[in-house]
Amino acid sequence: MDLSCLNDLDVKIERDTPLSRHTTFKLGGKCPAVIECRDAKILQATVTRLRDHRIDFLLMGFGSNILASDNGCDKVIVRYTSALPLIQREENIITTDAATPLDSLAAYAADAGLDGLTAMFGIPGTAGGAIAGNAGAYGEQISDHLQSVNVLRKDSSIATLPTASIPFSYRDSPFKHNGDILLTASFALTPLTKDALHAKRDKVLKERKFKLDFWQHYPCAGSFFRNVAPTSNAGQRRAAGWFLEQAGAKDLCLNGARTYAEHANIITHADGATAQDVYELSLKMAALVKAKFDIDLVREVRLLGKFKGMAASDPKGYW
Ligand SMILES: Cc1cc2nc3c(=O)[nH]c(=O)nc-3n(C[C@H](O)[C@H](O)[C@H](O)COP(=O)(O)OP(=O)(O)OC[C@H]3O[C@@H](n4cnc5c(N)ncnc54)[C@H](O)[C@@H]3O)c2cc1C
Repeated sequence: MDLSCLNDLDVKIERDTPLSRHTTFKLGGKCPAVIECRDAKILQATVTRLRDHRIDFLLMGFGSNILASDNGCDKVIVRYTSALPLIQREENIITTDAATPLDSLAAYAADAGLDGLTAMFGIPGTAGGAIAGNAGAYGEQISDHLQSVNVLRKDSSIATLPTASIPFSYRDSPFKHNGDILLTASFALTPLTKDALHAKRDKVLKERKFKLDFWQHYPCAGSFFRNVAPTSNAGQRRAAGWFLEQAGAKDLCLNGARTYAEHANIITHADGATAQDVYELSLKMAALVKAKFDIDLVREVRLLGKFKGMAASDPKGYW
């Protein structure tokens, strides 16, 4: 693939790269190239060049919400992550670059004596990926305290969007579907003592079954299915893990893919399992819940590339 249009940009390009290197599931075949952008200006220039040269690309953050196909994909991946936090504070407003690790953002807020992001402690991924997926825990979502975002639009313009204008929903936002790329985000937070915030951090990190580096030992992408919206079949119960456990999906395995012993909604793998094994195991799990409760579980993890047995209703494998 000819990427000479990027020659004068300060980007790192890895060619013919397995997606397993860039996803917390540690699975996935090759893509033509992974382009790492180290700041928002370079990201903007890269994306604009790719669009001008009609080179298809997909944007990825840390790859912690993605199951990539064993066949890889034929699109270039633009990766926007930063090892270091890129954050500014003005009074009770903090503004972060989308590449900032989410846990670092939450820790920064706590160190600044600002409350509102404590549920984000210990969630892997970038601030951009979290806003795109409206990440959350403990009944809170990242959009709760979001004030505005700056996005790069498909026509290369930059727009500032107030949160009130963005239709966020459970684990979803327009940014997962409309091609807008999050560059920065501002949060309006509430003062609280640092001691109280640090105590909250300790508590959340202790409570979370899967901490920041959990995926290093158990490759996964967190919860595989979304929690269930209340319906007559779901009753008061909403955690997908509860339905999976009741339906007998807790101890399932398929080749090396298996449910994590302590959490039925997490799929992990070992012993040479493939992404296809993970995908097929997830179909089995969903089928068990369907058979017992007549509830259709909805995947939270995004699929990248093509899998055997994909339903006609599945997206084409790209976003
Ligand atoms: C061990 C573990 C625990 C987890 N726990 C939780 C949890 O408690 N709660 C929760 O909600 N999630 C959880 N997750 C899932 C995951 O961490 C979150 O979904 C995270 O927010 C994804 O961020 P990312 O940068 O990795 O995004 P990616 O996986 O790289 O991408 C996900 C989507 O976001 C889009 N995206 C990424 N960056 C941008 C951007 N700058 N602009 C526009 N779109 C963008 C991508 O195009 C893609 O559609 C967990 C995952 C793991 C591995």
